[in-house]
Amino acid sequence: MAATTIDDIRAAIAERKTTATALAADYYARIKKEDPEIGAFLTLCEDRALAQAARVDALAADGNPLPALAGVPIAIKDVMVTNGVRTTAGSKILDNFIPPYDCTAVARLEAAGAVILGKLNCDEFAMGSSTENSAYHVVHNPRDKSRVPGGSSGGSAAAVAADMAVATLGSDTGGSIRQPASFCGVVGLKPTYGRVSRYGLIAFASSLDHIGPFANTVKDAALMLRTIAGRDPMDSTSAEVPVPDYVAELEKPIRGSGEKLKVGVAKEYFGPGLDPEVRSVVEAAIQRLAELGCEVVPVSLPHTEYAVPTYYIVATAEASSNLARFDGVRYGFRAKANTLSEMYRQTRDCGFGMEVKRRIMLGTYALSAGYYDAYYLKAQKVRTLLTRDFDEAFKKVDVIAAPTCPTPAFRLGEKIDDPLAMYLADIYTVTANLAGIPGISIPCGENHEKLPIGLQLFARHFDEATLLRVAHAYERAR
Ligand code: GLN
Repeated sequence: MAATTIDDIRAAIAERKTTATALAADYYARIKKEDPEIGAFLTLCEDRALAQAARVDALAADGNPLPALAGVPIAIKDVMVTNGVRTTAGSKILDNFIPPYDCTAVARLEAAGAVILGKLNCDEFAMGSSTENSAYHVVHNPRDKSRVPGGSSGGSAAAVAADMAVATLGSDTGGSIRQPASFCGVVGLKPTYGRVSRYGLIAFASSLDHIGPFANTVKDAALMLRTIAGRDPMDSTSAEVPVPDYVAELEKPIRGSGEKLKVGVAKEYFGPGLDPEVRSVVEAAIQRLAELGCEVVPVSLPHTEYAVPTYYIVATAEASSNLARFDGVRYGFRAKANTLSEMYRQTRDCGFGMEVKRRIMLGTYALSAGYYDAYYLKAQKVRTLLTRDFDEAFKKVDVIAAPTCPTPAFRLGEKIDDPLAMYLADIYTVTANLAGIPGISIPCGENHEKLPIGLQLFARHFDEATLLRVAHAYERAR
């Protein structure tokens, strides 16, 4: 069955073949049937969805032109706040947290007519690569239910893969959009740092956090990005950079009249840890790009081997500071205790899970007097070297192609007791967060067990248009 796209839905509503209300009801029926076996959703917001669907239907009934996402059923990773709708970040500490405002990205989707179905499961505070760190329940990969969907946006990837939403939002601090997209066989896009407002995103590591879409097609990802991108006065880190019409840009040929578009390939992304089947499928995809008229150029990203340790110092340091706000006073859960300091201690002890505590401890250590220079400062310096690697490579090429992950989806339970193995699998995705460049994962094949494999593409800062254009050309050729 061909996957549903945003255009199909908009056209069906505009031509009055269906209504947004009927569609929302269909999606809820499918969620109620399928999700008990998948576990993608944490909260449904039917009242809000049906009220929005009714607004879209009223517009359509009057023959008005419909906005870009009119009636499109969309769901949101539970790290983005939603006015009046429970938002947990996958944590017990926010079990009963009802935010009083909307995340900008969510508000922009709704303003474009999207129907928000509910909130999606994820690793607690987006810390993890398998969604097994959710304080609620695990998510099963719709392509093989014995396997993880990836993480931390596992619910966002699984919901699209199982057609429980047409598109979703996720967050990506070290790969949490691209890796689950790769594991579930869907498209996942991490935009440039600053491209999409993080107002209303529950912070994990502020210099690395990004919001981005999951979708069935590159065009749908482009539509989603066009809707959520752009400066937001509520987020001082959102950039004042014009947002191109990504959808129109898709149709430009990748083989222009002049020079060929150059695709870089770095040997550091094809090293010893790479699964042989993933390697051959990704190499075939790069060959396909060459057949489409791209010139494949070897590039070097020599500091890649330091990316994982650098990421896990910077990310945990920032997390230890961001998570200090969860003290039992301001948000969510509060433990009963006799004194104030006992209340803080009990709240955080009962409210946070193992992985979150591990990271708060690592990050606090990395920032502490006497260790700051050896760990945090050193990591910041290596981060600059990693960014310069990309700057140098992008003097020679327009995009860089690589695997998204070293392996296909692993089994539930396989890595949960070995945090280091879990961290090391982030090797190909954390680099784009450290450098702030955009990255996309698109399906490019399967292994012998029919598990999806993702092709990852990177581009220069704020050049999502080229990234999407190459991804779209590849997708169409495939
Ligand atoms: N797997 C990485 C981590 O555990 C990335 C998570 C993310 O991007 N939110 O930190």
